[in-house]
Amino acid sequence: MFKAIRIVQPNQITLANLKLPRLQADEVLIKVMASGICGTDIHILRGDYIAQYPIIPGHEFSGVIEKIGESVSRFEIGSKVAVEPNISCDNCYNCLNNRQNYCKNWQAIGVTKSGGMAQFVVVPEKSVFNIDKLQYEYAAFMEPLSCVLHGLKKVKINPGDRVVVFGAGPIGILFLQMVRLQGAVHVSVLENITSRAALAEHYGADQIFQNISDFDKDNFDVVIDATGVISLMEQTIDLVRTGGGVLLFGVPPAEQKLKLEGMKLFQKGLTIFSSFTSVRNSYQAIALLEAGKIDVSDLISHRLPLSEFERGIKLIEKGDDDVKKVMILPQQ
Ligand SMILES: [Zn+2]
Ligand SMILES: [Zn+2]
Repeated sequence: MFKAIRIVQPNQITLANLKLPRLQADEVLIKVMASGICGTDIHILRGDYIAQYPIIPGHEFSGVIEKIGESVSRFEIGSKVAVEPNISCDNCYNCLNNRQNYCKNWQAIGVTKSGGMAQFVVVPEKSVFNIDKLQYEYAAFMEPLSCVLHGLKKVKINPGDRVVVFGAGPIGILFLQMVRLQGAVHVSVLENITSRAALAEHYGADQIFQNISDFDKDNFDVVIDATGVISLMEQTIDLVRTGGGVLLFGVPPAEQKLKLEGMKLFQKGLTIFSSFTSVRNSYQAIALLEAGKIDVSDLISHRLPLSEFERGIKLIEKGDDDVKKVMILPQQ
């Protein structure tokens, strides 16, 4: 038996005692050591995201392999691993065009299949990556960092670029560090929560503003929105220089329209990108974390046992000043 958080239906959570599932030949059983709460978990709990209920949430996690199926070849018992949650069929139109993130038969661990907010989870071998000496809590950032890397494959950062990032939550801070690695010489951050602004400063932002009106217009080669706030997304095109790039990364509320001035888009010759999850970016993410090129050590604000998952969600929803990444440690 093992403990797991179950979202029975929107807004209804239980801490369940479940029987360990049987392993298929190509699956591994992972003892979960660290599992990060993400905005998506909140959407699943609140019922505004494509999930299959009841669901064990958790798609940003790491742990140690406890058992392996007969045909598993890359791992052994005791391997330390992190999990890439998206599972593609590799046999649909989108998969066969290297757009596995839009797989027609898409499944995701922690969204449509049992996830990592549990003491144990069973996942296919192909979703699993070795983390070697990387700490479990840091390895739990493999998934969010993969998404950031995917976004930065779309909007290109060139050496010498000036970049602005909207939002200094965990994702904004990952962007701040990544664009620096890619050669940005100036990174500004927009953030109105004091502790998050301080975090951006700690991670080396050149300039931090609380209000978007404080920025000079037409002054950035690349503008990245990591907030999903519609009014801010609309203003990305004011800050970017002519010929520059905009990456709309934050998740906006559903069914709300974005108002962009057509003439401005036309005159500035902008390129606007969106980005959805990731496509095979896990190896790079682990390499960056392992090499210490991306530092997540100051991004975790809370470490809670499984039984306090709901409290963790509420902390994030309240948006209190000191809340950053909330990490669930299921073995505690
Ligand atoms: Zn996530
Ligand atoms: Zn597919």
